[in-house]
Amino acid sequence: MFSQSPNALLVLGLLSHSPFAQCKQNTIIRDVAIIGGGASGTFSAVRLLDQGKSVVLIEKESILGGHTNTYLDPLTKQTVDYGVEVFHNQQVVKDFFAHLNVSWIITKPSFGASAPKYLDGNTAEQVNYTSPDPTAALIEYATQLSKYRQLELGFFLPDPIPDDLLLPFGEFLSKYPDIGNATFTIFRFGQGLGDFLEQPTLYVFKNFGLDVVQDIASGFLVTTNQNNYEIYDQATRILGPDALLSSCVVSTHHRDNSGVQLDVETPTGRRIVRAKKLLVAIPQKLENMSPFALDDRESGLFGEFMNTGYYTSLLNNTGLPANFSSWSVGANTSYHLPKLPGVYTVTSTAIEGIFDFKYGSPHALPDDYVRGEIASYVKKMQANGIAEKVPGEPEFVRFSSHTPFELTVSQEQIANGFYEELYALQGYRNTWYTGAAFHTQDSSMLWNFTDSTVLPALLK
Ligand SMILES: Cc1cc2nc3c(=O)[nH]c(=O)nc-3n(C[C@H](O)[C@H](O)[C@H](O)COP(=O)(O)OP(=O)(O)OC[C@H]3O[C@@H](n4cnc5c(N)ncnc54)[C@H](O)[C@@H]3O)c2cc1C
Repeated sequence: MFSQSPNALLVLGLLSHSPFAQCKQNTIIRDVAIIGGGASGTFSAVRLLDQGKSVVLIEKESILGGHTNTYLDPLTKQTVDYGVEVFHNQQVVKDFFAHLNVSWIITKPSFGASAPKYLDGNTAEQVNYTSPDPTAALIEYATQLSKYRQLELGFFLPDPIPDDLLLPFGEFLSKYPDIGNATFTIFRFGQGLGDFLEQPTLYVFKNFGLDVVQDIASGFLVTTNQNNYEIYDQATRILGPDALLSSCVVSTHHRDNSGVQLDVETPTGRRIVRAKKLLVAIPQKLENMSPFALDDRESGLFGEFMNTGYYTSLLNNTGLPANFSSWSVGANTSYHLPKLPGVYTVTSTAIEGIFDFKYGSPHALPDDYVRGEIASYVKKMQANGIAEKVPGEPEFVRFSSHTPFELTVSQEQIANGFYEELYALQGYRNTWYTGAAFHTQDSSMLWNFTDSTVLPALLK
C-alpha cells in the first residue's frame, strides 16, 4: 500500500468534499438502465447480471414484482397470492426459478371451490346458469390458434393481417359457433381484457394462447410455498443496491447513440444515471413515458394505447361462508358474460374469513370508487342471503390497482401495421422495450419473449 503525506491527505480530503466528488457520488454508471421492476424488468436485470453486464433497475414502488401481490397473514404466517398465481411449465420459468432458488410444483387449476355460485357481477343476485363443458369447444379454439403459432412468441402477425384476427371477438365467435361453449372459460382466464366481446380477436388469442390451452390440460407451474413474492424477494437480494426502489425517472438529459443519461428521484435524493443502453419495462402509456424525452415517432405510437382497469383485493368481515366461491355472469347477456365494470370473481383463500375479490372495467376507474363498489357488492350479497349479515363494514385487508392493465390499439391501427412500427422502435435511440404491451399479460410468456427476442437484440 502507498503511504500518503499529510499534504496529499489534505488534498484528498478537500477533493472528497468538492462539487466534483459530490457529482461522482451521485452518478450511477452502468451498461443497462432498466425502468420498471415487474415481471419483465426484474427478469431482464437478473439475466443481464448473469451475462456479465452491469445494470441499474429503477422501480417506482417500494418492492419489486409489479402485478404480483402476496399477502402474509401476521397470525398464521400463511401466504395468499391475490395477483399473479400461475406460471407455464416452460424451461425459461424453471431455469429462472432454479437461479433464484425458488421451488415449484405442477398443479391443475381448481378454479376455487368445486361448485361455485353464479352471481350477477353488479347486483349479486343468483343467476340460473350452468357452465357448459368447454372441452370440445376448446379443441376448436386451439385449431384456430394453431394457424398463428408465431403469436406465442410476440406480435408477429401474418402479412396481410387475416380478418379473423381483427374481428371483435364476439363476431369471431358468431363466425365459429363451435367455439361458443369455451367462451366463458376463455373470459375467466382472460380477466382484465375489459370489453371482451368487443376486443379484436388478436388480443384474446394473445391472452389465451396455445400454451394456456395446453397447461389447462396438463397443469400449471406454481411456487411450492404458494408465495410468488419469493421470486422477487430473491431477485431483490441478488440485485442489492442495483435496484433503486421507490424511485422514478424525472427527466432525460439525452438518449441517443452515445448512450442515455437520466435524472432519477430516489428516497436518498436525486441521482444521475448514465448507461450505454436503456430498457423500458413499464406500461408504455404516454403519461408513463413522458419523462423520457420522446420524439414524435415514439409519442405517436405510445399515444395510441388504450387501457382497461383491473383491481384485486382481500376482504375480511364479509359474512361469507367458508370455502365460498362465485363467478360473475350476466342473466341476459351474450354467452352469459357479466357486465363490466363489475366484480369478476369471489374466492375463499387459505386464510379463514379472508376472501379474494377481483374487479374489472373496460377503462380506468378511481381506486376509491372501486373500493366502494366492492364494499357495496358485499352488502348486496348479505341482503340477498348469500352472505350472513354481520355487524360492521367489510374490511379491506388489501386493495391493489393493476391499472393501466391491458394496453390495446384499435382494429384500424392493427391493420395499418401498428405492431410492425412498434417493434421497429427496438434499439431506436439506444432504447429497447419489453413488458405486456409488447407481448402479452403473462409472466412466463414475457420471460420467454425477453430472453429470446429482446435481450439478444439489446446485447448485439
Ligand atoms: C390480478 C392479476 C393476476 C394475474 N395473474 C397472472 C398469472 O397467474 N400468471 C401470469 O403469468 N400472469 C398473470 N398476470 C399478468 C402478469 O402479471 C403480467 O403479464 C406481468 O406482470 C406483466 O409484466 P410487466 O413486466 O409487463 O409489467 P408489471 O409486472 O406490471 O411491471 C411493471 C413495473 O413497472 C413499475 N412502474 C410503472 N411505472 C413506473 C415508472 N414510471 N417508473 C418506475 N417504475 C414504474 C410498476 O410498479 C411495476 O413494478 C396477472 C395480472 C394481474 C393484474
